[in-house]
Amino acid sequence: MANYALLFIGCLLLVLFGRMLLYRRHRATEKATLPDLVNMKEASERLSQVIQLETISVQKQEQFKESPFLEIHHVLERMFPLTHQNLKREIIQSYSLLFTWPGENSDLEPVMFTSHLDVVPVEPGTQEKWKYPPFSGKIADGFIWGRGAMDVKGGVMAILEAVEGLLERGFTPDRTVILAFGHDEEIDGIHGACQISRILKDRGVKLKFLLDEGTPVVENAIPGLKKPVALVSVAEKGYLSLRLTAKGEGGHSSVPRGMTSIAKLGKALYVVEKYAVKARMDTLMKKTMESIGPNMSFPYRLIMANLWLFKWLVKKKLETIPATKATLGTTVASTLFQAGIKENVLPAHASAVINFRIHPNDSVNGILNKMEKLLRPLDVEIEALDGSINPSPVSETEGKTYELLQKAIETVFPEAVMVPALMVGATDARHYQPLSDHVYRFTPLRTTEDDLDRVHGTNERISVENYREMICFYDTLISASAQK
Ligand SMILES: [Zn+2]
Repeated sequence: MANYALLFIGCLLLVLFGRMLLYRRHRATEKATLPDLVNMKEASERLSQVIQLETISVQKQEQFKESPFLEIHHVLERMFPLTHQNLKREIIQSYSLLFTWPGENSDLEPVMFTSHLDVVPVEPGTQEKWKYPPFSGKIADGFIWGRGAMDVKGGVMAILEAVEGLLERGFTPDRTVILAFGHDEEIDGIHGACQISRILKDRGVKLKFLLDEGTPVVENAIPGLKKPVALVSVAEKGYLSLRLTAKGEGGHSSVPRGMTSIAKLGKALYVVEKYAVKARMDTLMKKTMESIGPNMSFPYRLIMANLWLFKWLVKKKLETIPATKATLGTTVASTLFQAGIKENVLPAHASAVINFRIHPNDSVNGILNKMEKLLRPLDVEIEALDGSINPSPVSETEGKTYELLQKAIETVFPEAVMVPALMVGATDARHYQPLSDHVYRFTPLRTTEDDLDRVHGTNERISVENYREMICFYDTLISASAQK
C-alpha cells in the first residue's frame, strides 16, 4: 500500500513540476531606450499649463465653473497647431472635444483614442498635505505635479503630443483616427462621451478598435512577481444603485410597536451585504492568471501552473485583498442612509441606497431579480435608481487588435508582462461600447502601490520619464493602428 502511495506522490510531483517547467515565460528584457520624439522640457511645460486649468467636475451644477473648460480649448489650439490644421475639431455639448484625422482609405474602419478633460475636486482640508499646490502644475524632483497629472490630463496631452509629432514627421494615416476627450467622465459622462458616442453612431461609424484610459502598468504590486505588469482591461463592470425603503409606525419612542423602520432596514442591509455576492474564478480571471503565472518566482509559479489543483488556493488568496476580490464577482456596498427626525420620535420611514458593481457574468436584471427574492420576506421596498448599466462584453485577448496593443506595450515597456484584466471602476468606455467589439482600457502610466492613493487623492504626479514613455506609447500605437 505504501508503495502505491509513494508512486502516486511521485507521479503527482512529476505532473506539477512538469507543468511548471513547460510554462512559457515572458522574456526578461531591460527597459527600452526610447527615441526623442519630443523635447521633454517643452512637453512637460505644456502638461503643466493644462494642469493649471481647473477643469473640475462637480456633483452640484451650481458649483460648475465654465471658464477653464473654454480656456483649455484655446490653450490646446495654441499648443498643437498642426493637429488643429489637419484634424477636424468639433466641440460637443460646449466643452467636449472630438477630433477626426481622415485616413487615405475611407473604406477602412477607423480607430479611436479617448480620454477626458475633467478632473475631480481637491477634497477640502487636504490642500495642506500637497507637496506643491494641486493646481500649480509644478515641475520639480523629476515629476510634473498636480490634479489630473495621472487621471488623466497626462493621457490627453500624451495623445496630442503623439499626433502633433506624427504630423510634424509627415505621417499620413491609411485609416481614420478619431480622438475624443469628454468633459464629465468624473461624474457620469452623460453630456460628453455619451453624446460623442451617439453622434458617431448616427454617422454610421464602426470602429476597428477603441482605446480608453484604464488600468495602468503596476510595479511591485503582485507577490512573487518582480516584473511590472501592464494591465489591459478587456471588460468593465456594470453599475446599479437601489434604494431600499422600510416603513414602520410612527409615534413616541416610549411606546414602540414592533420592529422600527430602521431595524427592518438594517436587517435588510445586513442580508444584502452578507449574501448577495458570490466570488468565482471565471474565464477572464483564468486568462489573467495564465499571463501572470509563468513569470512568477517559485513556489507561486508551481501553483499557477497547476490551477487544476490549486484554483481554490488562488481564489482564497485573491479574496483576502479588497482590490482583487472586487474582480472576482459583483460587489455591493451600502452608501447612503436616511431615517429619523428626533431622538424620541419613531421613524415612519427609513431608506438607504446600495450600490452594485456588476461582474460580466451577472446583469442588471439578474441582480434585480435576486434582490427581490432576497428582500421580499423582509418587508422592504426596492426601487432602482437612474444610471444603471450592464457590464460590458469581454473584448478578445487574441487576434490582430490585441496584438497591436501588445506590440506597443512591448516597444515601450519591454520588461513588463501584459495581462488582460477586468476594470472594476467605471470609465467613459461604457458609453463608446456600441461603436466597437474591440474596446480596451489602458493607461501607459507606471504606478506602485504608493501611487494608488494619489489618483483622486493628494500629491498626484507623473514622472517626466514616464510621460516620455506615454507619448512614445501613443506614437507607436496610433501610427501602427492607422496603417492598413
Ligand atoms: Zn479618468
